[in-house]
Amino acid sequence: MYQKCPVCDGRGNVSAGFYHAYPVNMLTSTCPETCRTCGGSGVILEPEVGTGDIVTKKVEELRKDVDQLRKEIDQHIKPA
Ligand SMILES: [Zn+2]
Repeated sequence: MYQKCPVCDGRGNVSAGFYHAYPVNMLTSTCPETCRTCGGSGVILEPEVGTGDIVTKKVEELRKDVDQLRKEIDQHIKPA
């Protein structure tokens, strides 16, 4: 899941001087800077529960199902 970047409020850039300790009027450039938190995309990946975790869980479930089916097939092919 993506969420709006809290640093730039989803704009992808921040006002000039945002990352500097000195006032904006001391800068030679007043152009907005690319937001370093989101890299200018305006959104960040939620760190806690991403889609990758959900996919991984689903794959694990499917693997268990496949393993169970293989055991049942083996029992039919090779009866004890
Ligand atoms: Zn940002």
